[in-house]
Amino acid sequence: MPEGHTTHALAGRLNRAFAGSPVAVSSPQGRFGDGAALLDGLTLVEASAWGKHLFVEFAGERWLDVHLGLIGTFSVTGMPDGHAPVTGQVRLRLLNHRWVADLRGPTVCALLTPDKVDQIRDRLGPDPLRRDADPDLALTRISRSARPIAELLMDQAVLAGVGNVYRCEVLFRHRVDPFRPGREIRAATWQAIWDDLVALMPLGVAFGQILTMDDQVGDALVEVADGSSAVHTEAVTGARPGDRFERRFYLYKRTGEPCRVCGSRVRTQLVAGRNLFWCGRCQRRR
Ligand SMILES: [Zn+2]
Repeated sequence: MPEGHTTHALAGRLNRAFAGSPVAVSSPQGRFGDGAALLDGLTLVEASAWGKHLFVEFAGERWLDVHLGLIGTFSVTGMPDGHAPVTGQVRLRLLNHRWVADLRGPTVCALLTPDKVDQIRDRLGPDPLRRDADPDLALTRISRSARPIAELLMDQAVLAGVGNVYRCEVLFRHRVDPFRPGREIRAATWQAIWDDLVALMPLGVAFGQILTMDDQVGDALVEVADGSSAVHTEAVTGARPGDRFERRFYLYKRTGEPCRVCGSRVRTQLVAGRNLFWCGRCQRRR
């Protein structure tokens, strides 16, 4: 499911395919017909991401806001023969002579004024994938809150881009008790979580899949450093997750299975509307 790494990878793909030239914009399904007509033929200036929001700026200060939600996809694929038949419910299509991008099933697909874009950004917490992010803004909100840290990590006004998989896995990686109130979380613990997300999430962008297990993270870092990850980055279209690495996690969706560290059973409970997975024995820190 899309977390911040998905949105950032998508912004990169859209920029490589479309930025700097006019784009044909349509809504084959019809639900974004009026908005598409206002963008059709304009130059795509730049796509950017903040957390799970994708902002696409077109000439004339027209902005498109896309949020994929839980099931949305936005694929960007090459068209060697110039043909791209529409399949399924395509809310939005971007097209030039070489590329086609199809958006399906988003929670949000809307035209915005620049003011409205600023309002949305102002409401979002820092995004570990943005260079301008300030982790202290998140710490301020966490340290004043009685809500559990597992809930705060999912609150996009506290921290932008982290979804359920990164939440569960990063809390386990630092052995943090997910039910500790934010105000009891040590500043050093928060900094370690933040630094880890800053290291892990770019690997999600590079490979199109969430990597949190130390062996896979180690291999992925080597491939990013030596440049061999580029072929995998280019192969991911956004239609489905990358497959360079076996899909496995410390805890995510492993309810009842043994913890990979201590062997006690992985537990689950609904927190912030999504199933939190945790190990009651390993995760005691605050
Ligand atoms: Zn354990």
